[in-house]
Amino acid sequence: MIRCVCGQPMESTASRCKYGGGMSLASGRIQQNIGETDHMAGNTGRVIFLDRDGTLNEEVHYLHRAEDLRLLPGVPEALRMLKEAGFALIVVTNQAGVARGYYTCRDVEALHAYMNRRLRENGGAEIDAFYYCPHHPVHGIGIYKTACRCRKPGIGMFEAAEKTFAVDKTHSYMIGDKELDIQAGHNYGVSSVLVGTGYGAELKRETEEKGRAPFYDYYADDLKSAAQYIIKKENESAQAAP
Ligand SMILES: [Zn+2]
Repeated sequence: MIRCVCGQPMESTASRCKYGGGMSLASGRIQQNIGETDHMAGNTGRVIFLDRDGTLNEEVHYLHRAEDLRLLPGVPEALRMLKEAGFALIVVTNQAGVARGYYTCRDVEALHAYMNRRLRENGGAEIDAFYYCPHHPVHGIGIYKTACRCRKPGIGMFEAAEKTFAVDKTHSYMIGDKELDIQAGHNYGVSSVLVGTGYGAELKRETEEKGRAPFYDYYADDLKSAAQYIIKKENESAQAAP
């Protein structure tokens, strides 16, 4: 059987499968550039790395259709606050659904373009760049079955971002709702905020019940309160600086 680069079976004469995976999608492709990059030249090095599902939008298993995308309350406003405070906004998301053949890189990129449109329409700031890992070490099909460096808690997506963005780790943050998000942030060397949306609240409760020390640097109920915390902290450190 002939398979498309996205892993789906395809007709021998077709250049891509019915799911739309294209032959131009290289196996190592993890970056999706969004529009012009001029504003990145003046990027101050302050970056917010954001998990996607459960942090920006409602957790939906293997989300890939625009009609299933629901931004969480306060997210457009939170992103606007962070952008106005001088942060670049970068999504880093594991998308093993590509590896498993449930959807394609093209679907992921279309969804991200749609997400930015929704953010704009709702008065929010757009995401500056989306990085996604289409791999899985065990369940991946074809070229997507690989123990890559980009899958969180690996830091490959963060390092890829450095090719486009200046990153000052002492003033950058990772925000997510899962332990692997927090681990990825720590592995990379930035402070990590666990949000209570998605799996975050449950994770915090479990951590406390087990008497385990918090694995995150800060807990916020949602992205807006995470944004308020980060902006306040940065303002305080700016005032404390000589
Ligand atoms: Zn990967």
